[in-house]
Amino acid sequence: MADTMRQQVRIPVQHQQQATREGAPPLISYVLPVYNEVAGIRRFHEELVETTATRPEFDYEFVYVNDGSADGSLHVLQDLAKNDPRVRVVDFARNFGHQIAITAGLDHAQGDAVIVMDTDLQDPPRVSLELIDSWLSGAEIVSARRRTRRDTPFKRATAHTYYRVLRRCAEVDIPVDTGDFRLLNRRAAEELRGFRERSRFIRGMVASMGFEQREVLFDRDERMAGETKYPLRKMMRLAADGVTSFSTVPLKLITRIGFITLGLAMLGIIYAVTLRLFFPSITVSGWTMLMVAMLFLGGLQMLSLGVIGSYVGRIYHEVQQRPLYIVRNVISHDED
Ligand code: UDP
Ligand code: MG
Repeated sequence: MADTMRQQVRIPVQHQQQATREGAPPLISYVLPVYNEVAGIRRFHEELVETTATRPEFDYEFVYVNDGSADGSLHVLQDLAKNDPRVRVVDFARNFGHQIAITAGLDHAQGDAVIVMDTDLQDPPRVSLELIDSWLSGAEIVSARRRTRRDTPFKRATAHTYYRVLRRCAEVDIPVDTGDFRLLNRRAAEELRGFRERSRFIRGMVASMGFEQREVLFDRDERMAGETKYPLRKMMRLAADGVTSFSTVPLKLITRIGFITLGLAMLGIIYAVTLRLFFPSITVSGWTMLMVAMLFLGGLQMLSLGVIGSYVGRIYHEVQQRPLYIVRNVISHDED
């Protein structure tokens, strides 16, 4: 049964050229960041294994990244690895954060398709099969987009607003209501590995890469056990990383404020000088000079900050060392 099914699966042409394991069924890698999930990780794994078992036409590998858990998650993961050769565990020396954990998982994943998902069952394993289907029908990157989410009203409201603000100021088109639950084909995963910046906002990097991107809608479940590992502090850092990694709007704002300040300063200067020339009896001695100097310097300083800011922005883009471009294919005459 399994064998006949295995023969049926066909990877779309654009993925085939990258398939490296001759003759073997396509390999699907799961990248699974874990931080203090001892209460639910076993259940998560069981559910993932059950779900993937319904699609025996693929091979699977489960790359867990233990992000410095302090609660014995590692023991559970070691145990899973002992009982299932498809499980691999990348064990961090300390907590490096969700985005770095995903990065490490991607670095270790070898699949023809790589699926990144949370390990608290908020990203339901069954949805990953839909991602696979979309990939089989030709998509290169498939993002799971939340139709609904069952989080606290505060989290829902902040996330909702944030994604829309980000979309307005970011230089790339970052899809709204999409986290890191997505599938990347081998090529896209390889290209993503080339992004080595330290402040990481992976969903933005993925959006900036191009490729044929599709979405699958899903309803986000409640966290099955434990509590969110994204306290307000971490959430704000991620939010700031999102804005600063993909937009220089804050820097441009300084320049704009600079121009406005200088404009207002000019008006103030004209006012002060007029007062001094035509109504000398009103002004206190020395006032005009002080006003002129203060307003002029204030405006000039603001503008200079903006100029410096625009250079800082450029330096920032340079040090990010992102790939200059991503080639999908080079087409030449003699290949077909
Ligand atoms: N996570 C991680 N390192 C961290 C925080 C979270 O690897 O520092 C993992 C966590 O185990 C989970 C995923 O990232 O699998 C998402 O975290 P969480 O569910 O706490 O975030 P939320 O769903 O509340 O946004
Ligand atoms: Mg969660």
